[in-house]
Amino acid sequence: AEDPRQIPNRAVVDRSAITDNVRALKTKLDEQTALMAVVKADGYSHGMLATARAALEGGATWLGVAHPAGALALSHAGLDVPILTWMYEPRTAEALLPELVAAGIDVSVGSMEMLRMVIDASRSVDRRARVHLKIDTGMGRNGVLPAQARPVVQATREDDHVQLVAAWTHLTDADTPADPATDQQVEVFDATVAALTEEFGPIPLQHLANSAALLSRPDLHRDLVRPGIAMYGYPPVATDLELRPAMTVTSRLALVKEVPAGHTVGYSRLHTTAATTRLGLVPMGYADGLHRAASTKVSVLVRTADGDHVVPQIGRISMDQIVLDLGPESTAKAGDEVILFGDVPQGPTADDWAEAAGTIPYEILTSINARVPREVR
Ligand code: PLP
Repeated sequence: AEDPRQIPNRAVVDRSAITDNVRALKTKLDEQTALMAVVKADGYSHGMLATARAALEGGATWLGVAHPAGALALSHAGLDVPILTWMYEPRTAEALLPELVAAGIDVSVGSMEMLRMVIDASRSVDRRARVHLKIDTGMGRNGVLPAQARPVVQATREDDHVQLVAAWTHLTDADTPADPATDQQVEVFDATVAALTEEFGPIPLQHLANSAALLSRPDLHRDLVRPGIAMYGYPPVATDLELRPAMTVTSRLALVKEVPAGHTVGYSRLHTTAATTRLGLVPMGYADGLHRAASTKVSVLVRTADGDHVVPQIGRISMDQIVLDLGPESTAKAGDEVILFGDVPQGPTADDWAEAAGTIPYEILTSINARVPREVR
């Protein structure tokens, strides 16, 4: 039920969209390739648990999350599938690694120091840790350099407390399928894994494909693919799949008023009305996660008694509010629903906002923050 004390801003999450999107993505995979639903950043702001459950229903059999606390939350929620977590530093590791290992959660290792931390944790709980070796093939973030992978793998072979279950990497440019960077990374990855396999025996799993590689590079599916953004309905490359946005961000008009020509709107007076028109005030702004950089460059959908109308946002996006130019004939009234972006025919999408703000839909989605209550349907 709606809480009348709350501003009626909502991030409405359609679970069935996530389930259907995962089902659709699975049609691109061979039988032996598993799908890890990437639910980091609170499921790209869709709600981690709801997203994870919806993805599992669609056929995902793994879950991936950056932060260990998220992995534990998934495990505590009883989601009984392999879970991989990859972003920790010594303090987090000390606090959480024993619990992670005890819970049977897979951990990524991208350095000898990280491996040592995992081994210490597994000793402390007397349980074998499942480790994915991250290889830095060009991202320059987490991961061992190919030339430094050997001693790490050797250490896993010499210690019963760890089990090396996978080798993995992350692609820098898979969303530009023509970019040769992907092939260069794959070459490095394959050569590294081949050398390690020759010396130390097989590593059971390999994975490197994000959404873009899942959709555009079937040769890179390997044992496991790790889609995030496509699952939420925003394929980063061309696809014949019909994926639909899982999040629809809505609000309601707080005020509608007629203003004369020459009236200015917002900080810095970016907008001056050209003629008499009706302005609509929406009680949502950049503090809710709407990107200020998109000011004056987006349109949103207003649902009035006589139908849906796509109208421009005008003036600077403020902290708590934006203004729409409803047009002189608009019948919109305070209280009418506004759809900022999402799954609505003809309506704006996170892609539109991303283009307007000079960013990517990932950032548009994950910017929608806790001030906007989730409503999972
Ligand atoms: N794998 C890793 C390690 C990631 O960090 C991410 C997110 O950036 C993904 C997979 C999913 O990527 P995408 O959302 O582009 O499918």
